[in-house]
Amino acid sequence: MEHESLLMLPGPVPVPERVRMVMMRQAINHRGSEFGGIYADCVRILKPLFGTTADIFILSGSGTAAMEAAIANFGRDRKIAALVNGKFGERLYKISQRYGTAIEIGSPWGTPLNLEGLEAQLEGGAEMITLVHNETSAGIKNPAEEVGRLARKYGALFVMDGITSIGGDVVQTDAWGVDVAFVGSQKCLAAPAGLSAVAVNHRAWDCLCEKRPYYLDLASYRKSAGNMPMETPYTPAVALVLALREALLIIEEEGIAARIERHRRLSEAIRVAARAWGLPLFPVLDEKHTYSNTVTAIRYPAGIKDSEMRGRVKKMGIEIAGGQDQLKGKIFRIGSMGAVNAPEILATLAAVEHSLRKLGYLVKDNGIEAACEVLS
Ligand SMILES: *Cc1c(COP(=O)(O)O)cnc(C)c1O
Repeated sequence: MEHESLLMLPGPVPVPERVRMVMMRQAINHRGSEFGGIYADCVRILKPLFGTTADIFILSGSGTAAMEAAIANFGRDRKIAALVNGKFGERLYKISQRYGTAIEIGSPWGTPLNLEGLEAQLEGGAEMITLVHNETSAGIKNPAEEVGRLARKYGALFVMDGITSIGGDVVQTDAWGVDVAFVGSQKCLAAPAGLSAVAVNHRAWDCLCEKRPYYLDLASYRKSAGNMPMETPYTPAVALVLALREALLIIEEEGIAARIERHRRLSEAIRVAARAWGLPLFPVLDEKHTYSNTVTAIRYPAGIKDSEMRGRVKKMGIEIAGGQDQLKGKIFRIGSMGAVNAPEILATLAAVEHSLRKLGYLVKDNGIEAACEVLS
């Protein structure tokens, strides 16, 4: 059998056996009452994870499908202010360019958002804001609540990517004034890749564009979800929805508060290990921004090659992530999302510390020891 490595990535993450098992069954009719009930279960459990009472739809497509659905349904021909401090913020900007008049409000990746720039664009008539709450490419958590306040002050629609925060960190879609939010299945939810879920509130429905995509027309999703039994407009990825329901039942059993606390504690262990090694965390923070609790981005010391370091870690059966695009070779990232536990974190830190030493970096202090202090 091929060796399965432990995925300590910011998605995909390991899928619990219970979740994998439910995909093995015989096909079911997606227009039947059983599927309708499964879809309804998913929506019921997702609502508190999103922190919303708004409509939620499951899309058969990864997180990027939900990003595109949000902009294509609510942003066409509108002036869209895209906040960018990493790769996924940039992706929302690029999608916005396809549908509306996109304005990039950028700051260097992993540094605080340019909120003054945002306010200037809102004063200038921007009608929609896009934000990535937890910027996976840089390990920074952006101040969604603050952005929501600006959105409400200027009456702009607020679209938030919660793909690596929902299910792993505190998200309060309604209280923060987020109008459209979405999550992907293979991140904090610990389900297989291939699904996303999008929440749409009444303010967003009031701004629904006349000209919409066909497959990702959220008005069709709303209409079908209103049927008895609950449905999707076209054939969904049924096996993946079965798996998503099982993954959400596990989340419900753990409890949202406990799950968030587990993510916080495990990511804290990674952060203290990095500090002990003498390696700076990549994000540059101010009082409004914080480190991500679901992915930790660490700067490489001079002279350590990304491929060599991650290659060594992989040989020990663990996959961690490198940097994307302009951050390639500069940082490595350890995911701590989903069903992740303390032994997995400790094994990962041990493999990383060993590899750093072997490649000639003299770690300042014992990172494992520091992590154990947090975990014990
Ligand atoms: C993973 C991710 C996405 C979506 O990527 P897919 O490959 O389409 O699942 C979007 N935003 C963020 C912040 C992500 O981490």
